[in-house]
Amino acid sequence: MTYPKLLVKRDIVLKNVKALKKLTSENGVGVLYGVTKVFCADPELAQIYVEGGVDGLADSRIQNLKKLQNFDIDKILLRLPQHSEVDQVVRYADISLNSEISTLRKLNEAAGKAGCRHKVILMVDLGDLREGFFQEEDFYQAVEEVLKMDHLILEGIGTNLTCYGAVIPKPHILKRLDDYKQGVKDRFGYDLKIVSGGNSSSVYLLGKEKLPSINNLRLGETLIRGTESSYGQQLPGTNSKGWVLQAQIIEIKEKPSVPVEETGLDAFGHEPVFVDRGVRKRALIALGKQDIVNESLNPVDKDIIVLGGSSDHTILDISDCQKDYQVGDIVDFTLDYVGVLMTCTSEYVDVEII
Ligand SMILES: *Cc1c(COP(=O)(O)O)cnc(C)c1O
Repeated sequence: MTYPKLLVKRDIVLKNVKALKKLTSENGVGVLYGVTKVFCADPELAQIYVEGGVDGLADSRIQNLKKLQNFDIDKILLRLPQHSEVDQVVRYADISLNSEISTLRKLNEAAGKAGCRHKVILMVDLGDLREGFFQEEDFYQAVEEVLKMDHLILEGIGTNLTCYGAVIPKPHILKRLDDYKQGVKDRFGYDLKIVSGGNSSSVYLLGKEKLPSINNLRLGETLIRGTESSYGQQLPGTNSKGWVLQAQIIEIKEKPSVPVEETGLDAFGHEPVFVDRGVRKRALIALGKQDIVNESLNPVDKDIIVLGGSSDHTILDISDCQKDYQVGDIVDFTLDYVGVLMTCTSEYVDVEII
């Protein structure tokens, strides 16, 4: 057994995916993309998405999509392609999200060279201010040019919200996608197949609001933890506790809660603040900020207080615990979305699916 270890409870994640597949398809969203970047596209975990019924596997990074080649299902590149990777994009992604005409031209060339046709979804920025066409005319100009390209297929349009600007998707905002779809139909007589209405922050609208044209969502967090990300609500039939991080105790000692000499800056250059609780029993675990930030650690034993840490150590206050912890014992934490993302990215954390 090696630690730290991320335990993934397969049944829980599978149930989340199935619940979301049901909820989306009952509400007109027939095409569900499962977002794999949070677990670096580990194929064994992606397999759970596929079993749960996703219609495509989506990731921000081409290195991750490469790992998913053995799945006979659409692969979608979420981050706008870099000019430097267009050859790989047309090879490893069936569909990519785009907002730059220079990149679309390069993709067209690359697809021509590879002898394939690559599908593109054009992104429009509805106010969150990350990616996407902001001016309507720029968008329609790109549509016009892409429709003339021999090796690209204009698959649809999409938007992304609640990422940079934290804009919450509201019906009047998403309705602009209907207008864009209609605009493309009116101007070019072309029917867009996909209207992609966002990520886990759009899920709260399902079943509540009519979103006529939206037929696709790209979901990461909601599949992982069953939570929608606009308000953080748990969805019916889902469970957030499928991801448990385990770390081993390497020291237990009674120590004061405030450093004993004059203090300066901590290992990360910050001036630390201490709460004086007197002399306390502290446990040191072999897990640090190189694996996960403290804020994402949620001890399963509610009497544990996470005091802080440095790159490779986390310090816990275990004075109030019922359990008599010993050096060598394992401490469990449930994780938020960032916690899953960070621990999967840390090469020091082993992943075990149970
Ligand atoms: C990461 C990402 C998603 C998935 O976001 P979640 O909040 O995890 O559902 C969807 N679309 C794009 C473009 C992304 O980058």
